[in-house]
This record gives sequence, C-alpha cells and structure tokens, in this order.
Amino acid sequence: MTPKQKQFKSGTQKHWHLTQCPFHDDHNPSLAYNETEFICLACGRKGSVDDLRKVTNLPEWEERK
Ligand SMILES: [Zn+2]
Repeated sequence: MTPKQKQFKSGTQKHWHLTQCPFHDDHNPSLAYNETEFICLACGRKGSVDDLRKVTNLPEWEERK
C-alpha cells in the first residue's frame, strides 16, 4: 500500500470521527479517524487506526469488519 494524499472532506465518503490526538498536546478533538486510518488535523500525524488504538482508547466501532 502506498500512502496517498487524500483531501479531507468531512461528511463525505468515509465515516470520520474526531478525538483528542495522543501525539501532541491536544486540547480539542483534532484527530480524525475512520475504520482504517487516522490523521491529525493539527500536527499532521497519520497512520493506520491499529496504531492509534495502541496509544489511545477509542470507542467501539459502530460497525466492525
Ligand atoms: Zn496531533
């Protein structure tokens, strides 16, 4: 898999959720994640959601795959 630059559009395509970013000192939920990947809109950190789950507690998915 190659990382692609995707335009972030809220409310379209995938199911994005917002949470506080564990990778920087976040005071507002600025990290967007979906079923497969995450990206922080503040510090730019991104990766797979599995990596995110290792460092923070995410709420249960609405739909599991
Ligand atoms: Zn961040």
